[in-house]
Amino acid sequence: MKKVLVTGGAGFLGSHLCSQLIHQGLDVLCVDNFYTGSKANIKDLIANPNFEFMRHDVTFPLYVEVEEIYNLACPASPVHYQFDPVQTTKTNVHGAINMLGLAKRVQAKILQASTSEVYGDPEVHPQPESYWGKVNPIGIRSCYDEGKRCAETLFFDYWRQHQLQIKVQRIFNTYGPKMHPNDGRVISNFIVQALKNEPITIYGQGQQTRSFCYVDDLIEAMILFMNTPDDITGPINTGNPIEFTMLELAELVMKLTSSKSKLSFKPLPADDPQQRKPDITLAKNVLGWEPKVALEDGLKETIHYFKNVLNISS
Ligand code: NAD
Ligand code: UDP
Ligand code: UDP
Repeated sequence: MKKVLVTGGAGFLGSHLCSQLIHQGLDVLCVDNFYTGSKANIKDLIANPNFEFMRHDVTFPLYVEVEEIYNLACPASPVHYQFDPVQTTKTNVHGAINMLGLAKRVQAKILQASTSEVYGDPEVHPQPESYWGKVNPIGIRSCYDEGKRCAETLFFDYWRQHQLQIKVQRIFNTYGPKMHPNDGRVISNFIVQALKNEPITIYGQGQQTRSFCYVDDLIEAMILFMNTPDDITGPINTGNPIEFTMLELAELVMKLTSSKSKLSFKPLPADDPQQRKPDITLAKNVLGWEPKVALEDGLKETIHYFKNVLNISS
């Protein structure tokens, strides 16, 4: 049975990935320090004999024997990654070095959960993998953006220097059940606010755009990518190319929750990208993949999840 390590496995994406890998019959070691993840996310897996959990911070070395590594450890929400920005850079950079060192020692294949943030506030729209991005190196998002960019550099240097088998996946905004209610990202914020009939917080004028991918689609792409031949290293964009403004998103969430909330306009955070939408031509060609779940359908699943978490009857 193939032994797979998932770092950040108790987080939003990591817990879905662990479930899917267990479902496919693999032996999964989930490593997490519970910085933003939770035991609740993996509670259904704990009793499974093919699942093992280890509380560990990836900024420290890790000696285990595995054949594949999915490196997801890193807070993904701006609120959380800006709370302790030095730790965010350490997680991205020291964490990548440790996981790459581990992959080198045990000759494991390693996939990096990179991000559309490597493109910063992009001047090219939609963003293809060939675009080098427009990133502020000293701003409040830099610990995440530059940390992830440095991790990509390390992956490609270990590949060139030590012939590691690497896969670099650039993930665009992804949402779904198991996001934390206080995660701070826009979809969880809007749904929780709408369900509680509290003001919907729109940052800036709400004209900035994002493209939202449902978690099941994203995890499918991740596993497909891991199973590609060795010469496929990426980076590969994965996300949903259908673009919405934050105002459109707020209206859709309010409609689906029959909410009485009002819009509340707040200042736009520094360096907040104005537009973002993936060019997924490469993913279509190389992985034979494209997202299937429409935003409205994915939101319904996510709203159902948050109603349970918040104990709101439908
Ligand atoms: P998340 O915050 O829910 O999960 C991150 C997990 O990593 C948490 O369980 C957290 O406790 C753990 N973690 C953080 N620092 C750690 C450390 N030093 N050692 C061990 N564990 C640590 O976020 P997510 O949305 O599940 O994101 C997972 C990965 O995917 C992240 O690397 C993120 O950058 C990347 N990503 C996510 C999105 C998205 O839209 N969800 C988009 C782009 C990239
Ligand atoms: N490392 C780890 N687990 C291993 C092997 C290495 O955590 O099984 C860490 C270790 O901290 C090391 C880092 O990965 O410093 C980089 O390893 P590499 O072999 O590339 O470099 P070196 O050991 O020479 O620093
Ligand atoms: N946003 C918002 N209200 C919120 C949370 C976020 O208007 O309560 C905006 C934020 O300014 C950004 C977009 O929604 O333009 C997406 O934010 P998120 O934190 O989800 O992810 P990002 O793509 O910025 O990392």
